[in-house]
Amino acid sequence: MQFRDLQTQYQVLKSQIDSAVTKVMADADFISGNKVKELEEQLAAYVGVKHCISCGNGTDALTLALMALEIGAGDAVFVPDFTFFASGETVAYEGAVPIFVDVREDTFNLCPDSLLRAIQKVKEEGRLTPRAIVTVDLFGQPADYNRIKEIAEEHGLAIIEDAAQGFGGAIDGRRACSFGDISTTSFFPAKPLGCYGDGGAVFTDNDAWAELMRSLRIHGKGTDKYDNVRIGVNSRLDTIQAAILQVKLKAFEEYELLAVNQAAEFYSRELKDVVKIPTVKEGFYSSWAQYTIVLDNERDRDWLQAQLKEQGIPSMIYYPKPMHEQTAFAGMDCCKVALTTSSSLCKRVLALPIHPYLKKEEQEKVIERIKMNL
Ligand SMILES: *Cc1c(COP(=O)(O)O)cnc(C)c1O
Repeated sequence: MQFRDLQTQYQVLKSQIDSAVTKVMADADFISGNKVKELEEQLAAYVGVKHCISCGNGTDALTLALMALEIGAGDAVFVPDFTFFASGETVAYEGAVPIFVDVREDTFNLCPDSLLRAIQKVKEEGRLTPRAIVTVDLFGQPADYNRIKEIAEEHGLAIIEDAAQGFGGAIDGRRACSFGDISTTSFFPAKPLGCYGDGGAVFTDNDAWAELMRSLRIHGKGTDKYDNVRIGVNSRLDTIQAAILQVKLKAFEEYELLAVNQAAEFYSRELKDVVKIPTVKEGFYSSWAQYTIVLDNERDRDWLQAQLKEQGIPSMIYYPKPMHEQTAFAGMDCCKVALTTSSSLCKRVLALPIHPYLKKEEQEKVIERIKMNL
């Protein structure tokens, strides 16, 4: 059994992917090819925003968003404490201070009450200027944008939606990557929509920011790449990756997203009386980057993981350490509020195998082993 089965996916899509990749090689159209522009238009249409700008990876996408918003030294950016390192790393890389915010036990996403307290605290201290919130759509489910948008408006903060895990999710039919002033995603192979290497994209409805990020991703280009009007980066999506993503986006839309939701529903139905299952809020839709259960304590979690491993069932701990405990942030004064839920979750979460090609028999084996051991 595989945690995320990219081999089966390739076998299913092989003929289409092989011919798409071969065509790029035959045309020798490797960088900024036609397919990159086509894919950007398809992604923007899927998400329902005006502009999609592809780039090298999901981390660069966050950096491009922060650069476009001119976030840097002296600024505070609010980041959930329970997420992948890049959500906070990019803020610090731009010279700003990531202020970690606690998350909700049920959805694993940013807690609006904790966010309010953190904003208040930074304002009271008066040393940093609150500028933005990085709202992470963790494990595939969009953050609580209804509430977070009110808070952002009240305090004049921009929203950067980190939808690296959230592509395909939705709230009341409105899709992820459309909730931020600027939204970002990653096409790392194991993400809901993945390519065969590194890739990422930013999304926005704002024409000026879109133009700025198109310049920033290619060495701050002006009229062309040899006319450089600002300091930028080199962060492009390869044409080969764009060609692969075109095939994968079609499968994602046609059946993968549905299949992964059916797998999640099956787990939830069978496990809801056995263990704490992930909550999807009313009106919300998840793309199930992870299916994460929560145990009572660290000992139970580690024991269950060992039992599953013995039966050849892979599971993962996302995340073993909260952001505020990462050595890299030590001394940056990132903690203004209690981060108890996040710290506790790190000791109790366990992510089970989930992907669109997971077989019912495989799921039954996972379920049986969990029931047997709890
Ligand atoms: C994967 C991930 C990123 C970074 O994406 P890369 O493409 O690996 O750079 C950023 N934020 C979150 C929440 C992620 O899960």
